[in-house]
Amino acid sequence: MGIKALPFDEATIRAIMQETPTPFYVYDEKAIRANARALKQAFAWNPGFREYFAVKATPNPYIMKLLKAAGFGADCSSGPELTLAQRVGLRGDEIMFTSNDTPASEYKLARELGAIINLDDVSHIDYLDRHVGLPDLVCFRYNPGKLREGNAIIGHPEEAKYGFTREQLFEGYRKLRDRGVKRFGLHTMVASNELNGDYFVETARMLFELVNAINAEVGITFEFVNLGGGIGIPYRPEQKPVDLQAVGQGIRACYEEMIVKPGLAPLKLALECGRMVTGPYGFLVSTVRHLKHTYKDYVGLDACMADLMRPGMYGAYHHITVLGKENAACDHRYDVTGSLCENNDKFAIDRMLPEVAPGELVVIHDAGAHGHAMGFNYNGKLRPAELLMRADGSIAKIRRKETEADLFATLDFGGLAGFQTS
Ligand SMILES: *Cc1c(COP(=O)(O)O)cnc(C)c1O
Repeated sequence: MGIKALPFDEATIRAIMQETPTPFYVYDEKAIRANARALKQAFAWNPGFREYFAVKATPNPYIMKLLKAAGFGADCSSGPELTLAQRVGLRGDEIMFTSNDTPASEYKLARELGAIINLDDVSHIDYLDRHVGLPDLVCFRYNPGKLREGNAIIGHPEEAKYGFTREQLFEGYRKLRDRGVKRFGLHTMVASNELNGDYFVETARMLFELVNAINAEVGITFEFVNLGGGIGIPYRPEQKPVDLQAVGQGIRACYEEMIVKPGLAPLKLALECGRMVTGPYGFLVSTVRHLKHTYKDYVGLDACMADLMRPGMYGAYHHITVLGKENAACDHRYDVTGSLCENNDKFAIDRMLPEVAPGELVVIHDAGAHGHAMGFNYNGKLRPAELLMRADGSIAKIRRKETEADLFATLDFGGLAGFQTS
């Protein structure tokens, strides 16, 4: 079984705790940068390749600024996500707006920023035209239906609410062409947390086939195809990361055959990954509060499902390391819980760990994407701080912990006195 290494040790965390008590998130800048370079390298053969970081995975402007410096754009799906992209200085074709069930106000903001607008439905062509006008460049999201299998996180495409059918794509591009749109993109997103690299080569092949068919029938030329996100990460120690270089080369072979040969090059490739960009490089650090022995043995943490929802929500595996006991035998079976009044508030069930004691520190791995971002306030839980371990080893606070004042900011306690109940 593989080992899940940590970029810090117990002494480093204890030092951080002088200023920031647990629970908190910490992200590893050096590893995020190295991984970003590897992703770009895998697609360096394609001039114009761009990764649009899916902002929803880690909507923190400091992380986004790091990724901007690495040459990444942002994939946004709401007004506030567009605002974040704007605040870190992204604009124009550095922003992809892949939304669904979208209000006119958000299309308007996307248009103002010059973002690439990716429509989720054929009816939105008229909607966009009526409310904000059609931009030069428009992209459509394709839903292949029964042609592709999904998985437990993303579901089956034919049951997914997203995207155009194949017939609707032809109808839609014809409409754009007739209304004078000159530049075209094609997008799909059919995978989530997929560890089989071949799946992404298949997705590229599927889009390249469509580019050929639409070009032949509608007479338009595509500027880019966006393969979506969904590259998985090895949450379990025995899993292996996707071989990015192999995926890049697999897609390159299809590109030569299906795009270059028929004269459809150049065609820019885009990805909008979130999870694989930050997921493995973020950690939730928590202190053991209580041990409890009833029908099972429980480790109660000072973090809970409100800090990291994935295990409670979809039974997701997150590896756990007890700091200072990295090499100790995992000979105790525990349920690792938080303090929410919900029994699915468990980070792990029947997990084998070294024997733990109150006051010890645990690290929950692979929490860098869809972690803090999915946090919530149920039971009056306050969302934790986010820290960035800089490349030089220093620690930057990139989000403070929430306070009770933040939690109650939308309430007017002052009105209570005058609120008549009889
Ligand atoms: C969630 C999402 C992504 C990112 O998915 P990851 O699994 O984090 O890579 C990209 N595009 C769209 C449209 C999404 O909804």
